[in-house]
Amino acid sequence: MRVRTLAVGLLVGGLALTGCGKEGSPGDSGSPPQTQAPAADVNVEGSATFAKMKSRGNVIIGVKEDQPGLGFKDPTTGKYSGFDIEIAKLVAAKLGFDESKIQYKAIPSAGREQAIINGDVDYYVGTYTINDKRKQQISFAGPYFTAGQDLLVKKDDNSITGPETLKGKKVCSVTGSTPIQRVRDQKLTDQITELQNYSQCVTQLDQGQVDAVTTDDAILKGYAAQEPDKFKVVGKTFSKEPYGIGLPKDDKPLRDKVNEILQNALDDGTWQKIYDSTLGKSGATAQKPTLEKY
Ligand code: GLU
Repeated sequence: MRVRTLAVGLLVGGLALTGCGKEGSPGDSGSPPQTQAPAADVNVEGSATFAKMKSRGNVIIGVKEDQPGLGFKDPTTGKYSGFDIEIAKLVAAKLGFDESKIQYKAIPSAGREQAIINGDVDYYVGTYTINDKRKQQISFAGPYFTAGQDLLVKKDDNSITGPETLKGKKVCSVTGSTPIQRVRDQKLTDQITELQNYSQCVTQLDQGQVDAVTTDDAILKGYAAQEPDKFKVVGKTFSKEPYGIGLPKDDKPLRDKVNEILQNALDDGTWQKIYDSTLGKSGATAQKPTLEKY
């Protein structure tokens, strides 16, 4: 009797899972996979951030909104899309919050650490390079992707072919970012235009006020894909930018949980599906990242 009950239970469970898989599969449309929120009884023992999210009944995620392919807000529909957004949604779903329970907050590069410290966001997913300086203030889960610093120039510009050709050129990047720091540290040029967002830099490039925009290749490829007749990416990366999910510094239980979610997504094909339906659409392949051990 007990065996039969168990068998029926398994069968029902199996059917339910099959159903979820079907509904949640990316389908043939190439749309991002829909992640199924597990039962609302998810708990992350000892996580102050998770307890706050639970009592609030929603999750506040810091993102970018002007980086096509990564974190982008459609100006007409208000909908967010991109690789970072899908990673953010996956984590939320596995923590028990479906899409309707997500509130996105656009935070530029320079405001990320403070937004996490202040508790303005529960976590941050937006081309956020893991490094020791930032780890003094916050903590990271991941990496879930690795990018590299590159250059965006006008399509007909053949004078800029790599970082060593920037001397005397006007280069735009963003406050509080690792690429702008590298331009300064390596003295690549002394004509630096520093703005809040990369889309503002791209506008300046378009108007001829600067000669190049520098940041991660993944970001620049998104802009080039939007206006391929105007811009090109030089394609010679000169750094490693491992992307992490920014979390409050002392919340180890949440970091462990998010790392577990990422590891499972890497192992079960979900990460690949997310990549293929966003950044990978251009045909580029990406190496799967290895999570940092603490
Ligand atoms: N990944 C780099 C950083 O975290 C550049 C991209 C960005 O500013 O978000 O600084």
